[in-house]
Amino acid sequence: MAAPRLVLLGKQGAGKGTQSVRLAEHYAVPHLSTGDMFRAQAALGTAFGLEARRFMDQGELVPDDVVIGVIEECLAPGGPLEGGFVLDGFPRTLPQAKALDRLIKSHPVDVVVDLEVPTDIVIDRIAGRRVCTLCQRVYHVNMPPKVNWTCDDDGAPVVQRDDDTEEAVMRRLALYESQTKPIIDHYRAQDLLVTVDGIGDGDDVFERIVEAVEKRLAQG
Ligand code: ADP
Repeated sequence: MAAPRLVLLGKQGAGKGTQSVRLAEHYAVPHLSTGDMFRAQAALGTAFGLEARRFMDQGELVPDDVVIGVIEECLAPGGPLEGGFVLDGFPRTLPQAKALDRLIKSHPVDVVVDLEVPTDIVIDRIAGRRVCTLCQRVYHVNMPPKVNWTCDDDGAPVVQRDDDTEEAVMRRLALYESQTKPIIDHYRAQDLLVTVDGIGDGDDVFERIVEAVEKRLAQG
C-alpha cells in the first residue's frame, strides 16, 4: 500500500514526539514536528525562530497564520510530504485542522491517532523530561543517557526544555483542552480517528499504535 499520511494528537508529554519518530521510521515517511522546527529556528537565531520563541517560552501557541504559512510551504505539491507523512504538533487548533484539510485536499490524511494519557501522568513525565539539544531525543531523569547527560546518539548536551517550567506546562495543558481537543471531534466526524492508550512501555505503546493504524487503513 502507499505510504500513509498520519496525524498524531495527544497532550504534552503523551509521547507524541517519541512515537512519531518511530512511526515515520516504520512507514518510511518523513516526520514533521512543528515544535522541533520552531526550536531549531530559535536555536539558529532566525527572525522567525526568535519570534516563535517568545510564544513558546510562555507556553502560548504560535499564531495560526504564522504556523499555517510555514506548513503550507512544507505541504506544497511536489514537496517532501506529498508521498506520506507523520505530523506531530500540527494541527493544534481547529483553524489549523481546517487549513490542513484544504491544503491536502487531493491527498487527505489517512488516520489520526489520539494518544491518550491522563493529565497527572503527563505532568509527572514532563517534570522529569530532558531532551537532546541536537536531535531532540527525549530522556527522563529516571532513564538518563549513558554518559554524563550527553545524548547516546550524537553526544550533544541533554537538557530541560525552556518551556518545561511548571507555569508554561500548565498553560500548554490548558490550551490543549481549549484549542486542541475540539480537533478530536473534527476528525471523529470524518471517521479518521483512532484512540490509543499511551500508558506503559514505549514498545508496547508503539505496537498498539501500529495495530490501530493498520486496522483503520485496512478499512479503507
Ligand atoms: P508540546 O506538545 O509539549 O507543547 P511541542 O514541541 O509540540 O511541545 O511544541 C512546543 C511549542 O511550540 C508549543 O507550546 C507552541 O508554542 C509551539 N507550537 C508547536 N506547534 C504549534 C502549532 N501547531 N501551533 C501553534 N504553536 C505551536
